[in-house]
Amino acid sequence: MKVPFIYHPIYSELQLPERHRYPIHKYKMLYQWALAHGARPDQFIQPTPMNWSQVALAHSSNYINKLITNQFDKKEWRKVGFPWSTQLLTRTLTSAGGTFETVKTALDKRIAIHFSGGYHHAHHDWGSGFCLINDLAMSAVLATKAKPNLKILIFDTDVHQGDGTATLLRDHENIFTCSIHGERNFPFTKVDSDLDVALPKGTTDGAYLDAVKHTLHKVTKDFKPDLILYDAGVDIYRRDDLGHLDVSIEGIFSRDYFVLDYAKQNNISLAAVIGGGYQRNLSRLILAHAQLLRASHQVWSD
Ligand SMILES: [Zn+2]
Repeated sequence: MKVPFIYHPIYSELQLPERHRYPIHKYKMLYQWALAHGARPDQFIQPTPMNWSQVALAHSSNYINKLITNQFDKKEWRKVGFPWSTQLLTRTLTSAGGTFETVKTALDKRIAIHFSGGYHHAHHDWGSGFCLINDLAMSAVLATKAKPNLKILIFDTDVHQGDGTATLLRDHENIFTCSIHGERNFPFTKVDSDLDVALPKGTTDGAYLDAVKHTLHKVTKDFKPDLILYDAGVDIYRRDDLGHLDVSIEGIFSRDYFVLDYAKQNNISLAAVIGGGYQRNLSRLILAHAQLLRASHQVWSD
């Protein structure tokens, strides 16, 4: 089976200041990598943007209003890390729509991968760390609204803790939040997820993969999800500028392969987002994100 990929060219179309830390071109480059490595154009689904009433399922109307009309103060924008533009709003809504499309597609086809997503630092009424609205939380809430018995596990392996997701979903019984992250890294004030695993700086492949495997086993046995919403952030990579872990490229592949294969073997639908990854060297960054695509091909190519 060809794995469904969700992508929109707008992901890389945001104008940012020179030398901005955010690797805005990585989305398009990953798309091009996929095509160069055997993905078919008809494998891609172009998502439609979320609308603001869907965003209101997770964020306050005051916050949404300030965001739309560019009313954040300087401090609030510094926390977010992007300059305001209408392009930023459209891109943000489209990326969130992409994650929801990925969840819907995964429920139908058992697997889908979003070439964006994982804005897990967006809270109810404030944004931070390049995250304005929380695509993971909104998509999970929308999916469980459509199917009230659906159980979703948010399995967040981005190196940064999913603090926004944890706060937004605290009272949702059918959504379980789990974050495996670097202990001494942003956000420095952690918020309790349903399950957190904090790893020390310098964690290497063996200990990292043990933590991922053990945690996924435990959580799926206890919670029995129908769908895993997987944040496959690659800022765990040893060459990442912000990560502080010591995981190799093979380690990233092994993590992604394990999660995708485990979901398939256990009949759990898997919706993946690529999450964070920060390197000035974009080709090396793309190679790190590409491990998710390689893993999906190996797990689903029969
Ligand atoms: Zn991150």
